Amino acid sequence: MKPHDGMYIDRAWRPATTPDRIEVVNPADEQPIGTVPAGAREDVDAAVHAARAAFPGWAATAPAERAARISGLRDALAARRDEIAETVTAELGAPLPFSQAVHADLPITVAGSYADLLGTYAFEEKVGNSTVYLEPVGVVGAITPWNYPLHQIVAKAVPALAAGCTVVLKPAEDTPLVAQLFAEAVHEAGFPPGVFNLVTGLGPVAGQALVEHPGIDMLSFTGSTAVGRLIAATVGAAVKRVALELGGKSANVILPSADLGRAVNVGVANVMSNSGQTCSAWTRMLVHQDQYEEAVALAATAAAKYVPGERVGPLVSAKQRDRVRGYIEQGVKEGARIVAGGAEAPLDQGYYVSPTVFADVTPHMTIAQEEIFGPVLSILSYEDEADALRIANGTVYGLAGAVWAGDTDEAVAFARHMDTGQVDINGGRFNPLAPFGGYKQSGVGRELGAHGLAEYLHTKSLQF
Ligand code: NDP
Repeated sequence: MKPHDGMYIDRAWRPATTPDRIEVVNPADEQPIGTVPAGAREDVDAAVHAARAAFPGWAATAPAERAARISGLRDALAARRDEIAETVTAELGAPLPFSQAVHADLPITVAGSYADLLGTYAFEEKVGNSTVYLEPVGVVGAITPWNYPLHQIVAKAVPALAAGCTVVLKPAEDTPLVAQLFAEAVHEAGFPPGVFNLVTGLGPVAGQALVEHPGIDMLSFTGSTAVGRLIAATVGAAVKRVALELGGKSANVILPSADLGRAVNVGVANVMSNSGQTCSAWTRMLVHQDQYEEAVALAATAAAKYVPGERVGPLVSAKQRDRVRGYIEQGVKEGARIVAGGAEAPLDQGYYVSPTVFADVTPHMTIAQEEIFGPVLSILSYEDEADALRIANGTVYGLAGAVWAGDTDEAVAFARHMDTGQVDINGGRFNPLAPFGGYKQSGVGRELGAHGLAEYLHTKSLQF
């Protein structure tokens, strides 16, 4: 795609108020692919004003009208499927088939799900002598990361628009091009001026200006727990609603009765997917001590099939590559045993990290506690189910997880004790309608499906 020079504000591509630009780099070959404006506080201000002015009109539309626009948005995204996939491959580095099947198709599905949901969603209900109305929260500031760049945008902007809110989006500086494609699709779908606005820019400048802006009613953020904490403090101090989708350190618990080979192979695939840059990735594999060495051998064999530059893309930036390599070095320093990969660069060019598997990892090691966000798997052993549960729940995070057992009920019984927002049972598939979000420091609130829509609604009760 050819990058736009401006910001999408009030249904027009407007020049930025400063000449500053962000250079977008292809992480597979380290070559620049374009620039976008680095928005300033004044650009955020213009976008918030446009969103404020548009709010009363958009909030008053019938759900069927919003459904028609969102359906048009879904179609406009679907028409750009190839361009979306190629753009995500260029700015994030994901292999093209993965960009097509996940980075393009998942957001198209999620957008369509909200057009459908608006056909049945009850925006009012009777409770005894009351009628409870669900009303849009107002102007939503959305700040998104680069790891699933379009999905993260759609998972916030589309339910907010479906609720009747207006939106100002600040996407990640590393992946602003697909955000511009999203704005093009919004435009084509005919949303009125100011209903959706895009300000590209740097987190501590444009992002912070949006967080602090008195004209927003809610802030929805996905990214690191460190930035999420800062945002929650500011937005909380202003007594506004905040939704946070933060980091994870999910456990893949393989109980002794499970199909070990399948559980290990699916577990390795889960961690290597998107080069490990997935907040819900099962980065800790928990195996019974009697099956430990067999699982380690299986995981090492499986990881060797993920060849950098073929099945596995680079990390998004040199900064992220260096961060992940630092974690691998830290794992070695703390006594973990590398059975696949390692910290050395696998290719001469591009921000690649070797798919890496660590054995002999103990629960308190850094690599078992902190979110690495790269293709790095840690395998831990447990003595019995109580020990497995203690380890699984023994981090500050609680975003996702998996349980494998010979019997579904056995896996469900274990999963019910995990302090985490979603658990895949014996390889259960991702469900784009199921609520997605975290326990503990993995966040506040839920995205996707009806739960994701409810995030953007106030309740008002009238008594009769
Ligand atoms: P950040 O949390 O810094 O970035 C996420 C978004 O927040 C980006 O749009 C960023 O802008 C913006 N931002 C950064 N600082 C501020 C601020 N002070 N005020 C408002 N907005 C801000 O994540 P990183 O990209 O730095 O990644 C670091 C780590 O975070 C990863 O290694 C991973 O552990 C975790 N992470 C988790 C994700 C998840 O899905 N839960 C997604 C991405 C990262 P900009 O792009 O300009 O920095």
